[in-house]
Amino acid sequence: MVRTIVVALGGNAIKRAEERGTAEEQFRNVRETCKHILEIIKGGYKVVITHGNGPQAGNLLIQQEEASEVVPPQPLDIVGAMTQGQIGYMLQQTLINYLKEAGLNTPVVTVLTQVLVDKNDPDFHDPSKPVGPFYTEEEARKLAKKKSYVIKKVKPVGEKMYRRVVPSPNPIAIIERNAIRSLIDAGTIVIACGGGGIPVMMKEDGSLEGVEAVIDKDLAGEKLAEVVGADIFLILTDVEKVKLNYGKLNEKDLDRMTLGEARRYLKEGHFLPGSMKPKIVACVRFLESNGEKAIITSLDKATEALEGKTGTLISR
Ligand code: ADP
Ligand code: MG
Repeated sequence: MVRTIVVALGGNAIKRAEERGTAEEQFRNVRETCKHILEIIKGGYKVVITHGNGPQAGNLLIQQEEASEVVPPQPLDIVGAMTQGQIGYMLQQTLINYLKEAGLNTPVVTVLTQVLVDKNDPDFHDPSKPVGPFYTEEEARKLAKKKSYVIKKVKPVGEKMYRRVVPSPNPIAIIERNAIRSLIDAGTIVIACGGGGIPVMMKEDGSLEGVEAVIDKDLAGEKLAEVVGADIFLILTDVEKVKLNYGKLNEKDLDRMTLGEARRYLKEGHFLPGSMKPKIVACVRFLESNGEKAIITSLDKATEALEGKTGTLISR
């Protein structure tokens, strides 16, 4: 039986930390990324792709702010939609080209995805996710007043230590789930839930409305994996293996964790919030919802990890 795999791409799959983010740079990275995805497809898996959008949304927010006197800045839900389209386009085009080269004419489609969140999610009361540019104290004060942004100090020193923070609510449901399933059943490679999806809430009358928030891409990717009935959830980031005692002298690579161990290590605080912690939480949820195995590794080790040769495997 063909196994379905959801691949969650991290920031470095599209823009490296040291790069400015020109279209050339991003396409170069996307080509590298798609080579690895092609290998997974050739391995006989049904592949569903999701990705982050932090660097792209950050750049777009800077662009918007710089031009705000001339062109009105758009809210975060629209920024999410714009970057989903941007990254989806790059992945979709590159992957189609590679598939064609390999003699395959599998269609690739990006689904602009909305993800339902709860308007009573605790994160709406205490926003935690930094977005966009860094500000000086004075700029921060002005923006907080003018745009009612929540602004927090995110660095201990420097001229620009402040950043806007937005809620990062839990993903509850994927609005386009049936369309995504139909596409996959028809043999399409789907790219969905980019940047965690566009956060939307449901009003009393059942209608949807975008919210200014950012959903964690690994948690949204896990929801996607549930919705498509994935066997494997593969998180591709910038580390080959998850570490125990991260950053300490007794730090050690983990080849494997059981569900129980993952829960215990989460409690013991081995994984940093905002980076590794949501990935482990996502893997735990995936296994709890009957997923077979979750793997965390680096992009260039994807196929080796699927063969069980490296990465961190999380299974029951
Ligand atoms: P992505 O863009 O792929 O989501 P993140 O930066 O969010 O990447 O997460 C990967 C990072 O998580 C690693 O580069 C590392 O700095 C950090 N990290 C935190 N805790 C751990 C841990 N226990 N083991 C490995 N990496 C960890
Ligand atoms: Mg991340």
